Amino acid sequence: MRPYVALSSALACACFALVAEAGAIYPIDRADFLAGSRFDFKVEFDSVVPSDRIRVTVNGTDYVQTFGKAGQYVPNEDGTNASSLIVRDVSLAKPGRYLIEATDGERSQRVVWDVYGTGPRKAKNVILFIGDGMSVANRTAARILSKGISEGKYYGALSFDDMPHMALIGTSGVDSIITDSANSMSAYTTGHKSSVNALGVYVSRAKDNLQHPKVETLTELIKRKTRMAVGIVTDAEIEDATPAGMFAHTRRRADKEIITEQLFLSGADVILGGGSAYFLPQATAGSKRKDTNDYISLFQRVGFKLATTDAEMKSAAANPQTTKLLGLFHPENMDGALDRHVLKKGTVPQFPDQPDLADMTRAALDVLSRNKEGFVLMVEAGIIDKFNHPLDWERSVYDTIMLSNAVQVAKDFAGKRNDTLIIVTPDHTHGVSIVGTIDDGKPGTEMRDKIGVYSEAGFPNYPKPDSDGYPPSVDVSKRLAMFYGNFPDYYETFRPHLEGPNVPAVKKGNDYVANEQYKSAPGATLRIGNLPRAADTGTHTADDAILTAIGPGSEAFHGFMENVEVFHVIVDTLGLGPERSVKAPAPLRAPAKAKEKVAASAAEH
Ligand SMILES: [Zn+2]
Repeated sequence: MRPYVALSSALACACFALVAEAGAIYPIDRADFLAGSRFDFKVEFDSVVPSDRIRVTVNGTDYVQTFGKAGQYVPNEDGTNASSLIVRDVSLAKPGRYLIEATDGERSQRVVWDVYGTGPRKAKNVILFIGDGMSVANRTAARILSKGISEGKYYGALSFDDMPHMALIGTSGVDSIITDSANSMSAYTTGHKSSVNALGVYVSRAKDNLQHPKVETLTELIKRKTRMAVGIVTDAEIEDATPAGMFAHTRRRADKEIITEQLFLSGADVILGGGSAYFLPQATAGSKRKDTNDYISLFQRVGFKLATTDAEMKSAAANPQTTKLLGLFHPENMDGALDRHVLKKGTVPQFPDQPDLADMTRAALDVLSRNKEGFVLMVEAGIIDKFNHPLDWERSVYDTIMLSNAVQVAKDFAGKRNDTLIIVTPDHTHGVSIVGTIDDGKPGTEMRDKIGVYSEAGFPNYPKPDSDGYPPSVDVSKRLAMFYGNFPDYYETFRPHLEGPNVPAVKKGNDYVANEQYKSAPGATLRIGNLPRAADTGTHTADDAILTAIGPGSEAFHGFMENVEVFHVIVDTLGLGPERSVKAPAPLRAPAKAKEKVAASAAEH
């Protein structure tokens, strides 16, 4: 049951004290969403009540009249002693405040929604960059390594440092102060808050991952109301939470087989990333599917060009005939920039021709800009988060530099066109900070003696970066002292992990313990964790995320904003509020149902 929380409206608060708490209503209280956007309306009652006693009104009018259809009454929902009324796929065309009241004859509940419209379209295109888990220290370190600093002044700035508009973003979700990437991306792409591990749904009482009340995604809105193109680009798995947030509806982000089907049905035009294992039928080596669906063939059959390497992607994008592009460059998450450009570790030897995020952005823009109606492109630097989790800051920072390069590609595209809104934002943060430098030349027997703080820190001595902003070495004698504030037991080595991505803790029984692999590293120190022993890595934080933006519509970003307001700015910039009469193309047909149902997993973050 979702408890009532403080109601925002005076109207609701005035009545609240008289109302016994019972059940839940979705969308939830204080939801503010786009007029005309689709959603499932659900009222949960805490007992099985005779359906003729149920009365549900919207601003005093029976809900059937408001929504134009009657809902389904579900007694003993999923075997419980509770019941629900659910009305799928409804919308509210008129902006305004809506009071929803539901009673079973004995107990009542109410929520208030604010439904907003939009003005006329201000921009042709929107490009949304997500630096997954990108924290302030990631940005600062990326600036230090790629631009250099002396006497307190940087020699340059990241491409998103000089954007004219900036906001602090609140990332918390319906169920928790700490979000994950599914929940936070859904906020950006639906305008509704959601819960940890959920995509495009409110988490209700339903037991089936796919039966929770859905809210319309940005991709669905674009494809239903316009002829614009949609691009989804990531260096993580394309089925991972952030890219899936563009189109998916499931209570569990780990439903990756189902998410692949939803991606196919989404109508997205450019799809670039890792995660090919979920596209392959189960009989194919390396497949992670449990059915015979061959999504590579299915995509090709509906007109997609396929690329599996950087070279193939560039060639396909350069072809003026290409308007649909599927690029799958890795069976899982792609390798990060430090491994691909400098160390050649991770899985780089097996997959040597993976594209940079900047190249993927360029290819996506080449293809999407062939659509005269405009486009929405989402580009995720997903590996920043994947390396912040295992306390591998060097890798996360090289990927932040890569994000800066990708954003520069978008800025070059937008140029003086003045028709493209560019947004760069994390989806959440990590607890990481730069505290000084580590100088191997300092005297002392312990590595902590070599940490310089305040005036002892001075400046690090990373070598001059290459033309892409990547220093050719991170293993320098005076390097950043950058530490994470939340961690499992692990061995701190005070050095970059040249041997491959860090694995701080390993499972022993039900707990995670420090990985002994690093015990013999010179100066390695055991750090006793400050997280529950079930945590295998560092975790997300509730710290605000920093958003920057440029282009038409960007002036709406300022001060502190909830993550759902980012959606509001996007749809306002694209003028998606008024109903339009543009005919949408016929929807694609789903292949045989994917079987997978996945339970909650500690690995979901
Ligand atoms: Zn994460």
